Amino acid sequence: MKKIALVILILLLIGILYIAIQYGNALTSFFSLEQKELAPNLMAFIGNGGNSLVLFSRESSQVLIVDSKMFKGAKILRHYVDELVDDANIILVNTHFHADHAGGNKLFPDAELIASRYSQDQWENRDGEKYADLIVEFGETYTFTVGADSVKVCTLHGHTGGDLIVYIPTRSVLHTGDLVFNHWHPALLPRDGFDLNGWIASLDTMITEYKADTVIPGHGNIGGAELLREMKSYFVDFRQASSDAEIRALKHRYNDYLSLPGMGFHRNRTLIAEVDTP
Ligand SMILES: [Zn+2]
Repeated sequence: MKKIALVILILLLIGILYIAIQYGNALTSFFSLEQKELAPNLMAFIGNGGNSLVLFSRESSQVLIVDSKMFKGAKILRHYVDELVDDANIILVNTHFHADHAGGNKLFPDAELIASRYSQDQWENRDGEKYADLIVEFGETYTFTVGADSVKVCTLHGHTGGDLIVYIPTRSVLHTGDLVFNHWHPALLPRDGFDLNGWIASLDTMITEYKADTVIPGHGNIGGAELLREMKSYFVDFRQASSDAEIRALKHRYNDYLSLPGMGFHRNRTLIAEVDTP
């Protein structure tokens, strides 16, 4: 009996060691949180769940939050907003329904929640609850102001069946939600509406229609418009590689990309290979 327990313990330790070596950087990056002031009244919170953005105006007592994170990140975000403006009108946009982007919603019961029709449907189907105060239908754009800044919320799709992007033209800033992963293997989730051709079309739309000097991806560091092109190249490269030599070259090219357990190179190559080119 003792022997069996010892063997199980050793196997467990080997398993933990394997995950620590294989995914240590990814897990550290996923759970760490970095706060970055992009411009006056514009703050990014990178990591600890999906990347978040806060735009505020003290004059008009308004705060816009893009994605509410989860766990500790959500608490830090709530604390930050509470310190900013007394009795603020809070608008919270969820780029999509995944828990690492929307898990902190419950800490913002006072916010007006904006979500896509697809996110709303997922919440209703899975939890039987109504969440969004304002639903952005597919193809619709919702525009509002925060102080002197205009904000545009638009629906695209690909990562899920309804991904919102948030564009602040007055700041040349675009939050893409999980339509862009920067130096991460993107999470491809067929049961959540993953649509490769739709995703590439959404990237094309962002590349051609949105002038953004600053792009905030769903995961990974902030960058410029090149992040949109790099995400598209990722899909094009994965789609084109078929021979063993091409796949080896592909693996080498994307060797420094992070991934969470089970969401990396091999899974993405298989899923992308299954999709027909339009
Ligand atoms: Zn996601």
